[in-house]
Amino acid sequence: MNRKRLNVAVDGHSSSGKSTLAQQVARAMHYMYIDTGAMYRAATLFAMKERLVTTTEVKTEALEKALDRMYLQFRFNPASGVSEIHLNGTNVEREIRTMEVAKRVSLVAAVPAVRKKLVTLQQRMAEDGGVVMDGRDIGTVVMPDAEVKFFLTASPEVRAQRRLEELVASGKETKYEEVLENLLLRDRIDSTRATSPLRQADDAVVLDNSELTLDEQFDFMLTTIRKRLEELA
Ligand code: C5P
Repeated sequence: MNRKRLNVAVDGHSSSGKSTLAQQVARAMHYMYIDTGAMYRAATLFAMKERLVTTTEVKTEALEKALDRMYLQFRFNPASGVSEIHLNGTNVEREIRTMEVAKRVSLVAAVPAVRKKLVTLQQRMAEDGGVVMDGRDIGTVVMPDAEVKFFLTASPEVRAQRRLEELVASGKETKYEEVLENLLLRDRIDSTRATSPLRQADDAVVLDNSELTLDEQFDFMLTTIRKRLEELA
């Protein structure tokens, strides 16, 4: 059977469960999963190593020049079953999930040259279809023609609690208040930046998952994608 391979955009607020769901959906459909947040986090790590970003300021022009030396790549890890992000040849999948990176990433992600470079890479990865991509501007900027678009959200308190549990599970002790504050700040910067702000695409299916289980959301997303496949068959 020669079925079309769709592109699926999954946008939404920080810690709305996007990555987990997008990953599960990709696995079920045998599509490629692309975590664009990991790319912005790796770019932030790069800016930190180059001493071009603090928690309050980013050196935009110097970063723009340094970007020629930043090489990002996803490599599949058979042990974890997912593609992991590499910065200049080094696996930084763990290093990018710290609060130090979280506190700086929205500043780096607001730099137009950073977005231009990463969006170009993302568009190239989606050229042949069969991609589930999660982020903030996927349905609006990166893949405006994606056949299926989701926009996930949940209350800030629910999202902060989920994020806290993830951080604690990976051995990173953090306070709930610090996580909540960081989420609210990132939402604000992500939604108000001039270049590609976090915005729901007009044709996105909105999913407020404050009171939905992962299974319920997963079923809903798969049903939506399969319906679309039938429409396009
Ligand atoms: O998805 P995650 O929380 O890992 O993303 C980290 C940050 O990367 C976001 O807060 C946002 O600033 C930035 N980002 C973005 N555009 C995307 C994906 C992530 O600006 N497509």
